[in-house]
Amino acid sequence: MSHRLAPPKATSTKPKPTLKPPATKQKKSGESVADLLKHQTPKPPPQTFATATTSSNMQNMQILSRSRSPINKTLDKPVSPISSRESSMSVSESEYKYTVRNLPQHIATQKSFYSFLITTINLRSILTLKVNFNRTALLITSAPITPAIINQFRTASGDANITVDPINKKSLNTPFPKVPTFSVVIRSVEHDITEADIMNQNPILKINRLHRIISKKTNRPTPLIRVISDDKPTIDHLLTQGITIFSRVYDCEVSHPPPPTPLQCSKCFQLGHGPNDCPNKPICPKCPESHHPSKCTVITAKCPFCQGSHPAWSRQCPVIKETPITENTPFVPTKIIDPPSEFADRDIAEDPDSPHSDPNPTQTLLRQVIAFFAKILFDIFPLQKPKMQQIIEQASLHAFEIITKISHSGHRIRFSFN
Ligand SMILES: [Zn+2]
Ligand SMILES: [Zn+2]
Ligand SMILES: [Zn+2]
Repeated sequence: MSHRLAPPKATSTKPKPTLKPPATKQKKSGESVADLLKHQTPKPPPQTFATATTSSNMQNMQILSRSRSPINKTLDKPVSPISSRESSMSVSESEYKYTVRNLPQHIATQKSFYSFLITTINLRSILTLKVNFNRTALLITSAPITPAIINQFRTASGDANITVDPINKKSLNTPFPKVPTFSVVIRSVEHDITEADIMNQNPILKINRLHRIISKKTNRPTPLIRVISDDKPTIDHLLTQGITIFSRVYDCEVSHPPPPTPLQCSKCFQLGHGPNDCPNKPICPKCPESHHPSKCTVITAKCPFCQGSHPAWSRQCPVIKETPITENTPFVPTKIIDPPSEFADRDIAEDPDSPHSDPNPTQTLLRQVIAFFAKILFDIFPLQKPKMQQIIEQASLHAFEIITKISHSGHRIRFSFN
């Protein structure tokens, strides 16, 4: 099969960029434990029109940050945030995010506010609760918090000053859903412990799925369990606290970094250049038309490269899979999810009423330095990510005494610090 991508509609005035043959052989997998840890999460589409990266240095440095509109501080309006996970393409479990403020002292701790919600209010839809030091809390639920429930908060706590404000996302209509999933590996899990045991023992963790890793070499079950989750607090918990199964704490490690994501044009979907350098006519990644992807109405996508039933950006496409990756292949720059400056809840940190905006600025600065160098190293040595990751983890431990774990979701990385 040809290694060059050639969609039917693409026309070119300049010579089409092609990918050079491989300079180095890819390592065979299945040889070691490290290989077993290889990231198997399906990769998200590399780019969208909205977030397409270009070769500009400024844009290469861009990082993914949470985009939020300012919190609506009045409670007169109906409290009905739109689910943060819904999009036109996939509707997963709904999530409603709120900032709770002015918690009275007697329910201003994690434990006391949790039992207040469960026992006193009988709120059964809690997905995540994080009570902060400054009498505020982040509350994520699977059902909306109605004004009636907010009234209950006030009467039951004896404090009329409690406010519950929805956190709304700026934009909900991205062309492709891009919820990053991360993979974590639990070590040394005895063979009589089943996947269901682990789930049942940890009902609070939000795990998308998990499975025991089978050795490619021996075809036998290993002591390793792979856990896939898109819930960041769950990932942080696993990496920093481990996981408890039958009263024993098992260590968790990040998965082996995935191979770099080749740069794919968001206009013509050829590999090797960005949309700003595109010499071709734009195409729709899902049908033979040339409209913007968000305008596409087809239900089953048809790949312009292989005619398979996936969009042109799918990493499942055999044409993309077989394209050789070399030192000279242009890659999608690494993006940092939740960069360290924003690890504190931004809405609360920026609240002028909040007494402690940044509890430890030095720590935040060191974390920023670690994240910055990790991004730089991954971008300079995209084919040596595992080695770079080791260097970063060791350096941050020895130089700053910070335990750093880096999770990967395609070209996006996220840090769990201890
Ligand atoms: Zn192009
Ligand atoms: Zn279309
Ligand atoms: Zn295809």
